[in-house]
Amino acid sequence: ILKINGLEKTYTSGSRQLTVLKNVSFEVEKGQTFSIVGPSGSGKTTLLGLCAGLDQPNAGTVELCGHDLNQLNEDERAQLRNKEVGFIFQNFQLLPTLTALENVSVPLELQGDATAVSRASELLEKVGLGDRVNHYPSQLSGGEQQRVALARAFSNRPSILFADEPTGNLDEETGEKVIKLLLDLNKDAGTTLVIISHDLDLAARTQQILRLKGGQVLTNEPTTAI
Ligand code: ATP
Repeated sequence: ILKINGLEKTYTSGSRQLTVLKNVSFEVEKGQTFSIVGPSGSGKTTLLGLCAGLDQPNAGTVELCGHDLNQLNEDERAQLRNKEVGFIFQNFQLLPTLTALENVSVPLELQGDATAVSRASELLEKVGLGDRVNHYPSQLSGGEQQRVALARAFSNRPSILFADEPTGNLDEETGEKVIKLLLDLNKDAGTTLVIISHDLDLAARTQQILRLKGGQVLTNEPTTAI
């Protein structure tokens, strides 16, 4: 479902050039749970952005759900994301002026879903926030905000879900709830999961672990082999 080949990314700021990804290649199978681990600054978030077509590489190819992203224009990439991809960002990225319900329903409405509101309440119910739908993000705890972000990420029934440090800001118990929700989604709906994490225990619960260091692939192994 995701095929990365010879990916390279260089950031330029002023006269300085910083190559953050070098010759990165790997594949994620449909329905697989896959983690990307590595030290801070190793290029994980950059890699995720490239995989999802949010940013473009300096070299190499990304094939996502059968489409070569280099061959698509910005609109086509956005359409593909709306249809096939879900995201959970490091810092939730909820809209502060919208309630929990609206944070989930508005993107669905924008995609023309006539059942947006009922689907959003159903999803919030599912992540255990049925009694928090009218709260604004500032009135929710970090774990609750992360679960709203999760409900939003599931809402378009993505075939692949990218999660950047989904438990990074959460205590152990809340983090566990979020991980369970993600793994259940994989089991129940067959959603492919690509998770970035510092947490090796979380990574060990996925089927494949790619280790990144200094922008290069160190190892890429099934968890059973580790
Ligand atoms: P962390 O675990 O701390 O989130 P990471 O592995 O996700 O780190 P990235 O966020 O991908 O790492 O960053 C990799 C490198 O690229 C870092 O050195 C960072 O400073 C640099 N970088 C990231 N984004 C940009 C940008 N837009 N412009 C210039 N440099 C950037």
